[in-house]
Amino acid sequence: MTKKGYKRVVVKISGEGFSSENNVIDKDSVKVMALELKAAHDLGVELAVTVGGGNIVRGNELGLLGVNRVQADYMGMIATVINALVLQDALESLGIEVHVQSVIEIGKMVEPYNRKQCLRYMKEKKAVILAGGLGNPYFTTDTSAALKAVELGAEVLLKATKVDGVYSADPMVDPKARFYNRLTYSQVLNGHLKAMDATAITLCMENHLPIIVFNLRKGQNIQRVIQKEPIGTYIGE
Ligand code: UDP
Repeated sequence: MTKKGYKRVVVKISGEGFSSENNVIDKDSVKVMALELKAAHDLGVELAVTVGGGNIVRGNELGLLGVNRVQADYMGMIATVINALVLQDALESLGIEVHVQSVIEIGKMVEPYNRKQCLRYMKEKKAVILAGGLGNPYFTTDTSAALKAVELGAEVLLKATKVDGVYSADPMVDPKARFYNRLTYSQVLNGHLKAMDATAITLCMENHLPIIVFNLRKGQNIQRVIQKEPIGTYIGE
């Protein structure tokens, strides 16, 4: 780990990072993600990864289909645990010791979330995967990632996506979409830019926690972000 790099980070990976066009959980996508996280871990950074579950269940979408919204959100939280176990398996197969801590408790499968124990693992350079979101319906894993990053004293929240950062419009749809290198929290909130949900941005703003939105699928990007190279979109004061 070079002196200039971040020492403690929380990485947020959405459910879409686990999937492909054809598969809800795609072996190759998971492998790419695991290799990138291993590269980050190899730098010696204290690492916690928060996972989403949108590839399996999104509470609001299931709610629209007639499922009770609160029930659907709990299903979404369970989906995050499934992704966490998928990622744990992939990281373990690369030789990394990794603990899954979840706010939604499922005995035998995951450890309950405990901030102090989580910090202990991170300081021992064991990776931690955080699942279960906030444990409450009507929230998202973006918000839980922001909260965990604040709670754990991370220097930065790294939001991994499939695109290079934050754009004025969806770059997959609009080729004229403008890329932003740097934004303030207010610009994201007022411009309704698709970086993270508003609650997450507000939490980061109130706690002066910078966010970097970057493309996890480009080789070595995560290492470069952790070494403070100007990759992706930096959101801060
Ligand atoms: N969820 C929730 N509370 C939380 C976190 C997640 O109810 O604190 C539910 C919600 O239904 C959400 C689903 O879990 O749609 C999956 O999480 P999210 O949408 O954040 O996953 P991502 O988009 O990151 O894959």
